[in-house]
Amino acid sequence: MSIKVLPPEISNQIAAGEVVERPASVVKECVENALDAKATAIEIHLYDGGKQLIKIVDNGVGISQTDLPKAILRHATSKIATSEDLFHLQQYGFRGEALAAVASVSDFTLLSKTPSAEDAFSLQGQAGVFEEVSVSSANDGTTVIVENLFTPVPARLEYLKTDEAEYRACLKEIYGFALANPNVSFTVFKADKKRLDYPSTTLEDRVRQVLKKTSEGLCPVNFEMPNLKISGFTSEPGKGLSNKNQQYLLVNGRRIEDHRLAYAVREAYVQSAGIEKHLFPAFVLHLTIDPILVDVNVHPRKLEVKFAEPSEIFSAFKTAVIKALENVSYQSSKNDFPRNEGSRSLATENARSLLPSRNPMMPGDTFKSQNLTSKIALPSFADRNQALNSFNVSVTENHVFEAQDESIRLIGQADNKYIVAQTASGIYFFDQHALHERQRFETFWQDYKNSPITQQPLLVPETVSLPEDQVSLLHQYQTVLTKLGFSLDFKADDTVEIRGVSDLLVGQDLAVVLGQCVSFLENEKIGENVTDQIMRKLLEYKACRGAVMFGDKLEVAEMEKLIQDFDSTDWKLLCPHGRPNHHFVPFAELDGYFHR
Ligand code: ADP
Ligand code: MG
Repeated sequence: MSIKVLPPEISNQIAAGEVVERPASVVKECVENALDAKATAIEIHLYDGGKQLIKIVDNGVGISQTDLPKAILRHATSKIATSEDLFHLQQYGFRGEALAAVASVSDFTLLSKTPSAEDAFSLQGQAGVFEEVSVSSANDGTTVIVENLFTPVPARLEYLKTDEAEYRACLKEIYGFALANPNVSFTVFKADKKRLDYPSTTLEDRVRQVLKKTSEGLCPVNFEMPNLKISGFTSEPGKGLSNKNQQYLLVNGRRIEDHRLAYAVREAYVQSAGIEKHLFPAFVLHLTIDPILVDVNVHPRKLEVKFAEPSEIFSAFKTAVIKALENVSYQSSKNDFPRNEGSRSLATENARSLLPSRNPMMPGDTFKSQNLTSKIALPSFADRNQALNSFNVSVTENHVFEAQDESIRLIGQADNKYIVAQTASGIYFFDQHALHERQRFETFWQDYKNSPITQQPLLVPETVSLPEDQVSLLHQYQTVLTKLGFSLDFKADDTVEIRGVSDLLVGQDLAVVLGQCVSFLENEKIGENVTDQIMRKLLEYKACRGAVMFGDKLEVAEMEKLIQDFDSTDWKLLCPHGRPNHHFVPFAELDGYFHR
């Protein structure tokens, strides 16, 4: 067969395979173009999830009559002139192929008016074959209409999901742009119904518009290094979600997907406040970085980027989030036991969070000031009622707690599970196990961080049987395990003999300890510093195993010690695994309950 150069409509259709995957890709490319054209208002119409029709109307600078036919040519762009420009991009677009690609697989209309022209002009085509430019009428700006997407390449239709799923995917793109451009208004119509209306606003408010209820449990992130800045919002400790749908990573205004960075954010919780296994933080995090340090031209749909220093960015995200969480769990909670009634205490914060509706945010207000309040969600009145009924409180002799700060007083233990104590402003219910577990963990962690690991040889080596693939995994990570103090002897393909362990792990069930190492190595190890990550898991286990149990009867002195230590615990809100360890009920709330 002789070699032929393909006509442009066919080569464009082939190229479109990379750029246009589904209706959401069209939305993405067209909204990018509208933003690049400095639009301040963008309207998106979707019929049948965008399969039947996508119409995007902007009020940007428009396309002139002479440029109109060029806009739909492949590799035709007004945004870059040299390859050097790729490293100083100020705009979303640069490949000059989106419109050509979209037009080649749809019935396509481009209608535009520049402010200086008297008329609007339009260009229409089917499957990439265009008619002449014709005079039309329209407001300043551009309208792109994409009908019958993929009809010219029916095989592609097979890959589309339901209308609703495609509509959701379009929304996800729009949310990303909306978060990156709060000053632009976005309106979405599903068929003829207006489904979303975001007027131009501040970032805080836009986060509220997009994340809705989730935005009530966010804390601000602000972190700067010499060549980068990370800002935005992330879930408060204890406010994770059961899915990753509310995670937005923006790099210089571009939403990207990067599972390593999303992992870094979650890792920040694991390594600080704690997060339950099945939960994921919600976040909107914007990385501003010198464009020279990030290559956006590594993915046809520009969904991924490549960083010059990926591990530096990973740690920056982790540090940024840990610092943000510190502000909620750590520094602010130093005031948990108010020394002086006049100071703004947790109690007043909590009382404020019970107001039925949130006041609109005032200029200069941050999420922090409004949301520090909702540290741990308070149960509904019905729940509380039930909880109070079932209490079986063993009251101590009105014992006054004699810590250096005299403002917390032990009331007693309830049901051998909860320690109840009061301050001037309310009542604490501590989960005795979770509280003790957090305190023990912090002590062990400090020991690990502050002194080198010393290996303790076992008098009687312990033999552990494991499946062969697990033994080989341990073998592969032997250097890491040796750093952690393990002395392992690989006797057979399915047996490991433990000859020594770190002094921190003496007395633990070593078969379980080794099992935990395996499960970590099998499932995670994506983050940095694998040694720290494994030791953390092992010490969490140790903290849990030796802590007072939920159900143990405690002596007054034991409870006092736990409460006293609570005040000096760093990450005091949650247990190391991310469950709440206390619940505070302000008197103001009790008063309200009793109609006082
Ligand atoms: P790119 O965005 O990479 O330049 P596109 O194929 O998306 O490539 O667009 C081609 C050109 O068409 C753009 O460079 C721009 O000049 C013009 N264009 C496309 N959409 C719009 C719009 N909504 N407003 C103004 N100009 C547009
Ligand atoms: Mg473009």
